[in-house]
Amino acid sequence: MSKYMSMENLKFLLHEVHNLSELFQYERFQDYDKEAIDILLDSAKDVSDKVFYPHFRAMDEEPVRYEDGKIIVHPSLKGMIDGYADLGLIGGIFDYDDGGIQLPGTIMSACNHIFESANNHAIGYMGLTTGSANLIATFGSQELKEQYVPKMITGEWMGTMCLTEPQAGSSLSDVATSASPQEDGSYTIKGQKIFISGGDHQFADNFIHLVLARIDGAPAGTKGISLFVVPKFLPQADGSFAENDVLTAGDFQKMGQRGYATAHLVFGENTGSKGFLVGEANKGLKYMFKMMNEARIEVGITATSTATAAYYASLQYANERPQGRRIQSSGKKDATKEQTLIINHPDVRRMLLLQKAIVEASLSLIVESSKASDLSHATEGDEAHKNHLLLELLTPITKTYPSEMGRISINNGLQILGGYGFCSDFPLQQYYRDIRICALYEGTTGIQSLDLLGRKVTMQNGQALQVLMTEMQEAIQAASTHDELKPYANELMKSLGLTQEVLTHLMPFAMQGNYERYLMDASLFMEMASTIVIGWQWLKMATSAKVALVSGNKTYTDEFYESKIHTMKFFFKYEMPKILGLAHTLKNNEVLTIIEEKQVAF
Ligand SMILES: Cc1cc2nc3c(=O)[nH]c(=O)nc-3n(C[C@H](O)[C@H](O)[C@H](O)COP(=O)(O)OP(=O)(O)OC[C@H]3O[C@@H](n4cnc5c(N)ncnc54)[C@H](O)[C@@H]3O)c2cc1C
Repeated sequence: MSKYMSMENLKFLLHEVHNLSELFQYERFQDYDKEAIDILLDSAKDVSDKVFYPHFRAMDEEPVRYEDGKIIVHPSLKGMIDGYADLGLIGGIFDYDDGGIQLPGTIMSACNHIFESANNHAIGYMGLTTGSANLIATFGSQELKEQYVPKMITGEWMGTMCLTEPQAGSSLSDVATSASPQEDGSYTIKGQKIFISGGDHQFADNFIHLVLARIDGAPAGTKGISLFVVPKFLPQADGSFAENDVLTAGDFQKMGQRGYATAHLVFGENTGSKGFLVGEANKGLKYMFKMMNEARIEVGITATSTATAAYYASLQYANERPQGRRIQSSGKKDATKEQTLIINHPDVRRMLLLQKAIVEASLSLIVESSKASDLSHATEGDEAHKNHLLLELLTPITKTYPSEMGRISINNGLQILGGYGFCSDFPLQQYYRDIRICALYEGTTGIQSLDLLGRKVTMQNGQALQVLMTEMQEAIQAASTHDELKPYANELMKSLGLTQEVLTHLMPFAMQGNYERYLMDASLFMEMASTIVIGWQWLKMATSAKVALVSGNKTYTDEFYESKIHTMKFFFKYEMPKILGLAHTLKNNEVLTIIEEKQVAF
């Protein structure tokens, strides 16, 4: 079996860079320690090797299909659902009292990275089930919780999130699905939802849809949206189930993730679908945001893992493919000499290092965000608040950087295979197609960028940004104690100053109420900010590696630690300078994209 991820790297990040054991001091996680976590991770890798990885290509080649009103998925999905559920992971983050195992979310992320690297078509089914069950458990009534959550966390029933409608994609204020109150306290739901991931298949006894809808007479816009549980089959008092008028109208055929169902669902076209309000009326979007924020980190994991698997596939190829000869000091090539492996060509090494730099730092960022989430729940007072702010700010970046740069990383990996990269015998073309969705669903890159600059940077008078800057300064200080790392720490420090300069330039537009101008180039700001955040992650990794080398307290080989420092240097040489160009454009006052300012014939 080919290597598709690195357990060494994952454990290095968890234990040495991000000091996971800090979490075990809190009551919620006190039953865990490093040993228990390592055993769980190794079990996840074992299931992943045996059940997930072998079917990755087949799920693409024999994709999801729609037949006679039903969606049929690849038969191997059943083993994946069972394998994941048997490890207790669908209910991993749930309380013991609710049938869960109170696992830190950071470890869920780590396990999902293993599975998603093996097969990015499958985890969404389970992830959406965890997320929707968690929404019911957090905001739903005791009755809803008892009725639905237990069977969801065993994987017998699966969950979905139903937001998107034909006219309401990025902007959910236009959601039109209706909810009419009934005498028994339930609601009759009518409307269409499109692009619903995992919305139907043959391996669940029931589907519990979490649906955004508008109660009759509710205010327009997002303030009038409520959240409902709408099961495909309604549990009856005698233990039987009744149809609930939820129709599967089709499955969207896609360029990637072809093993992951994307349903078109029609609610209540005939008799009306029965729905049950979650929490209070008109607060649906607020509740759904909990699931969406978690799902955004999940998308970051999907993208990182897909790009990680692609990295190892191109690394293997580069180590096996002989082609050409190294350039001699005379500037000539000696054709009498044996061909060299392509990994010895500087341009191929550059592409491999770019892949490594992107995927390893993306994974580090996922661990950083997941740990902030755990700490925001496990701690109290200022500490909880600080971690909550950090998570808020990092979420759009953790979704976007791996999605956008992971695609570029896979593109470089495909290039390393030359013409074979374009051929279906090799997996690079599949990874390239699969990752493309990550920049689209759970909010496009454009929408994440508006969120970052429009909401997160400005939230609580810039407090979240301040928390991040403080974290970065601590990392800069720690790196600066090592002569080898000091120049890079200084570079990162300068980049913080540049960010302030850009914000000082942009902020007056927001203060004058000219938000369109303020947000005009939000995507460029996202690119700049996420490059700096990734530079921060590299500095942290390099510092941990340096500490291990200097102290001699090493879990891995010297080469392992030295490669971290080398890749950090690569990132600072090849990627960090891009922020200068981005800052230049962000500070440029010419306006070319706002319609009143400049009419363009396209
Ligand atoms: C495979 C797949 C699975 C999905 N799974 C789910 C699911 O499980 N549940 C669910 O509810 N939805 C799901 N979706 C829907 C997905 O979240 C939406 O496709 C996405 O939010 C974008 O909406 P849209 O396609 O309508 O594009 P649009 O909203 O029409 O956007 C088109 C373009 O315009 C840009 N744009 C839109 N508004 C603005 C703005 N205000 N400012 C700047 N740019 C803007 C966007 O960035 C994008 O580039 C899925 C989609 C796909 C393709």
